[in-house]
Amino acid sequence: MATVIESHQYTLKRSVSCRGIGLHTGKNVNLTIRPASENSGICFYRSDLSSRPSVPARVEQIVDTTLATTIGMGDTRISTTEHLMAALRSAGIDNADIDIDCHEVPIMDGSAGPFVRLLKRGGRRKQSAYRKMMRITKPISFRMGEKSIRIEPYNGFKITARIHFDDELIQEQSCSVEITRERFEREIARARTFGYVEQVEELWRNGLALGGTLKNVIAIHWDRRSILNEEGLRFNDEFIRHKILDTVGDLALLGCPLLGHVVADRSGHALHHGLMQAIVDSPDCWEYVSFKPADKTINYLHLTTEKNSEHKTIPFNLIGAAQSFATLTPCAA
Ligand SMILES: [Zn+2]
Repeated sequence: MATVIESHQYTLKRSVSCRGIGLHTGKNVNLTIRPASENSGICFYRSDLSSRPSVPARVEQIVDTTLATTIGMGDTRISTTEHLMAALRSAGIDNADIDIDCHEVPIMDGSAGPFVRLLKRGGRRKQSAYRKMMRITKPISFRMGEKSIRIEPYNGFKITARIHFDDELIQEQSCSVEITRERFEREIARARTFGYVEQVEELWRNGLALGGTLKNVIAIHWDRRSILNEEGLRFNDEFIRHKILDTVGDLALLGCPLLGHVVADRSGHALHHGLMQAIVDSPDCWEYVSFKPADKTINYLHLTTEKNSEHKTIPFNLIGAAQSFATLTPCAA
C-alpha cells in the first residue's frame, strides 16, 4: 500500500510495553508507550522516580550527543532516544506518553525493529487535530570539520547519506531513501548499531556499554575485515542504513514531520543536533504547514501555512500518486 501524507494526528489505540537492557548501564529497563491527547507530542516520564518527572522529546531538551542522544530537564535524563523516536516518527505516531524506569531507553537488538513491532501491537488511532509539518523552503546546512549535513526543499521526506571508514569492511557506503512507513520498516528499521571491538573494550574499561553484547551491536573484528556476530549482517550495507535510522530518530526531536531532503556526509548525533539548531535559528528557511484533504481521494491537498499569506498552487509529489498538486492557502488562525 502506498503511503500518503496524512492530514490528521495519530496516537496509539492502546498502551504497549516492552522490557530490555540499557546499552550503557546493563540494567533491565521497563518501557510503556501510552496513548496521549492531540497536540501533546512525545513525552517521556521517569516512572522510577517518586515525582515522576517528565522530559518532552524536543530538540530544546538535548543535553548530550556523545555515543547517543540524551534529552533532559532539570536533573532528569533520558538517553538513547534515537531508535525509539525513529520508530514513532516513521509509524506516524504524533502523540504518546512513554513511561520508563531508567535513564536509558532499552537497546533491544540494536535496531528499531522491536519498537516498530511494539507500535504495531499498539495500533493507531486517528485524532481530530490536523498534523503540523515543517516544510523546508530554503537550504540549511551545518558542518563540523569534514562532517557535513544539509536539508533542502523537497516535497516528501528523503535522506541521502554517505559514510567513509578507513577499513576493508565498511569502506565507503552511501544510500538514499524516501522515508515512508513501508520503506522505513523494510529497508532501515532492522539495521543495527555497530562499533569496532577495540572501541567497545575501551567503553567497558570506562564503565560504559556494560549491556553491549553480540545480541545488540555489530562488533567489527580487530582485523577490520569481518564481524564477530555469527549470524552475519542483515543487509550488505547495514552500517549506512543504521546511520539513516539514527538521522530519522534524531530529527524527530523537531517535534513534527519534515518536508525536506537531508543530505548527510559522515553524520552522527552531534551533527544532527547542529542541523536541528540551525533549522531553529533560521525561521526564514521553513514554515509550518498542515494538509487538509480537498476530496476523499486525497489527490488534491490544501496546504495551509502559518506564515505565508499568499495563495498559490505548488506541484506536490504525493507519494504513491503520479501527479498531485497542493494549494498553498493562508493559515486559518
Ligand atoms: Zn543508532
